[in-house]
Amino acid sequence: MASGPLTAAYIAATILFILSLGGLSHPETARRGNLYGMCGMGLAIIATILSAQVSSYVVLIIMMLAGGAAGTFAAMKVQMTEMPELVAMLHSFVGLAAVLIGYATYIDPSHVFIGAEKTIHEVEIYLGILIGAVTFTGSIIAFGKLRGLIDGKSLLLPARHFLNLGLAIICLWLGALFVGNESMSGGIWMLIFMTLIAFAFGVHMVMAIGGADMPVVVSMLNSYSGWAAAATGFMLSNDLLIVTGALVGSSGAILSYIMCRAMNRNFISVIAGGFGTASGGPAAIYEGEAVPISAVDTAELLREADNIIIIPGYGMAVAHAQNIVSELTTKLRERGKNVRFAIHPVAGRMPGHMNVLLAEARVSYDIVLEMDEINDDFPTCDVAIVIGANDIVNPAAQEEPNSPIAGMPVLEVWKAKSAIVLKRSMATGYAGVDNPLFFRPNTQMLFGDAKTSLEEVFKALS
Ligand code: NDP
Repeated sequence: MASGPLTAAYIAATILFILSLGGLSHPETARRGNLYGMCGMGLAIIATILSAQVSSYVVLIIMMLAGGAAGTFAAMKVQMTEMPELVAMLHSFVGLAAVLIGYATYIDPSHVFIGAEKTIHEVEIYLGILIGAVTFTGSIIAFGKLRGLIDGKSLLLPARHFLNLGLAIICLWLGALFVGNESMSGGIWMLIFMTLIAFAFGVHMVMAIGGADMPVVVSMLNSYSGWAAAATGFMLSNDLLIVTGALVGSSGAILSYIMCRAMNRNFISVIAGGFGTASGGPAAIYEGEAVPISAVDTAELLREADNIIIIPGYGMAVAHAQNIVSELTTKLRERGKNVRFAIHPVAGRMPGHMNVLLAEARVSYDIVLEMDEINDDFPTCDVAIVIGANDIVNPAAQEEPNSPIAGMPVLEVWKAKSAIVLKRSMATGYAGVDNPLFFRPNTQMLFGDAKTSLEEVFKALS
């Protein structure tokens, strides 16, 4: 393909990606947004295949078949609850690709630059590998934490800030030596040394973040993967990759900021690590007895209630309970009840997790409200039903200064006249923090798998 049509195709793909991001900002337009994104990516792939940049079609086809097969297999096999891990894994691939392309570009004999061009080329390579390496190991640790293979608690090495600072200074120093270095064999060793440091930095950075602060890391790694892709675009002189990487990088950064604000956290402090750990004093011990309730009694409470708020959390995803939640909602609304959903910004394991599940179960968007829109309504709520949520409804965040989640805004479920918590046991949630909500006088526990429990409630209501 000549450069004119290629540029036109890349511009069209860029516009489709921007439309896609716009569409994804609201549940009603998300499907269309996704479609734009798919068309944009399809166009980008076809244009690149037909471009003069391809030197071997055999290698290209083999790689596309292998990648396409792996992607199809992963997409068919992945459960909705495993989606955040898949996203973390995909981010690690972007990081690794940036590292490998960086090395390949450096040793490619066809790239001969002099003067300022050489300096710019080397800076691109160095930054691409640096960001890619941090993204790679950081995403692998995030994957391990989300999957429960690595303890979610933060690892706090002594003098960790100095350690990070030391690593950053060494990387800067190596970068200064690398750029302008005349010998390729010397340059390669600097790159290898920096890559190892960046790998260690990625591991340390994510290991140091614990408790409920992982959502910020997940969106931050999303942003890093975008910048890694943009750096790759510079190395390969591919304008579309630069623009796409910048779109992902900046939208991920904005999402990280929004997440931090929603969790009342300071971005720099989260990244520096240490949040999500008790801040000094002893953790509170909650005594008392959790009062169980049966499905039949829950149905009775609902029958008498006028105002009902449903708070979904990660357990709703685990139980695949979204469809029965939707059916129960429809039944209650048919009986004239005011049923609404309260969505916490970090409910579940990825941004928008609950919205996706409720949209899939065809719950009407106008009764799905954000935390800020509904939190003041709990005092007038007759029954609050907490479905597999824990950290996001923990009053310790407001009342316990020593709690690892202190300061994180939560849904004030305990202010409702009655709160029913659906979960299987008294186990803690992701942050590993005990929840005094379960011992409040107006709280009752409906123990069991959320889907089974709700089916029983539904039957009793009928
Ligand atoms: P939590 O992890 O706090 O709690 C989920 C609860 O669901 C558990 O206590 C569990 O209790 C219960 N549960 C699990 N399976 C079932 C089931 N089959 N039926 C009924 N209950 C079940 O989830 P929340 O949504 O309240 O909070 C999200 C947490 O995840 C926060 O700490 C957040 O910071 C973190 N996080 C969020 C991310 C995001 O982007 N949204 C990303 C990474 C982390 P039991 O075992 O007793 O059943």
